[in-house]
Amino acid sequence: MFKHAIAAVLLASANVAAPAVAQPAPAPSTAQAPLQLWRLDCGEFVIKQYGAFFSDTFQYPRGPKNIVGSCYLIRHGDRYMLWDTGLTDALVGNTFDNAAQTLRLRQSLVDQLRQIGVRPEQIELIGISHWHFDHTGQAGRFPQARLLMGRDDVELLRGTPSPDQDSTDALAHWLNGPGQIQQVSGDHDVFGDGRVVMLTTPGHTPAHYALLVRLASGPVLLTGDLYHFTEQVANRGVPPFNHNRADTLASMDRFDRIARNLGARVIIQHEPADIAKLPAFPQAAQ
Ligand SMILES: [Zn+2]
Repeated sequence: MFKHAIAAVLLASANVAAPAVAQPAPAPSTAQAPLQLWRLDCGEFVIKQYGAFFSDTFQYPRGPKNIVGSCYLIRHGDRYMLWDTGLTDALVGNTFDNAAQTLRLRQSLVDQLRQIGVRPEQIELIGISHWHFDHTGQAGRFPQARLLMGRDDVELLRGTPSPDQDSTDALAHWLNGPGQIQQVSGDHDVFGDGRVVMLTTPGHTPAHYALLVRLASGPVLLTGDLYHFTEQVANRGVPPFNHNRADTLASMDRFDRIARNLGARVIIQHEPADIAKLPAFPQAAQ
């Protein structure tokens, strides 16, 4: 009966002019824009008591651990975006030391960008993974850029007192104006062509983000601080400085599934072993 009805419809439609078929919208001109990704050095850390600092379940041994800080430059056609802005460049030539950690920074972002011929005023967008000071330190060198940051993390830094006055100061130009700020919630497709997407991965902070970059050579996932080093992936390690444990575990689950489904190269931003997963600066991945 149902088959017959379909046949009747097909017959009837054969006698009338073919309906206009909706044409797919032309691909935006940016769809073919070259996409490149550079890894930038954004600091070195010696964490003095690795176990106490990084595990809320006594997972890791006592003693020190070295980690790195990294930031990323994304070129989309003639548009430039920074992902995270690292430790403050006041650290260049200095060392910060307290009971928990020692921090160093070899070179500022501005100096690194100069080496590849990118001027600070060419940076149109700054994406921030989360509100911690080691991800916001050099944003102020790019005051013309629009800041993309999770809404709840923005609200925290605007609060009184700030949970991190260094970070609030580093982003003051956007938190209090006149800098342009875009408060992100949910996933955010940065250039509108699905190739650079901020992925909502809350937990470490209320509005933490990871970044998906779909290069021609294959997708790359930048973790933000969803993970700080490789062991955490297998043992679901959550540090004591974490906003919501259940959200962190759920975000790890989502992130790992995305990585598996896309066959993505995962780069843990603080993991020294992951430096080698991208070409060495000043080379870019494409
Ligand atoms: Zn960090």
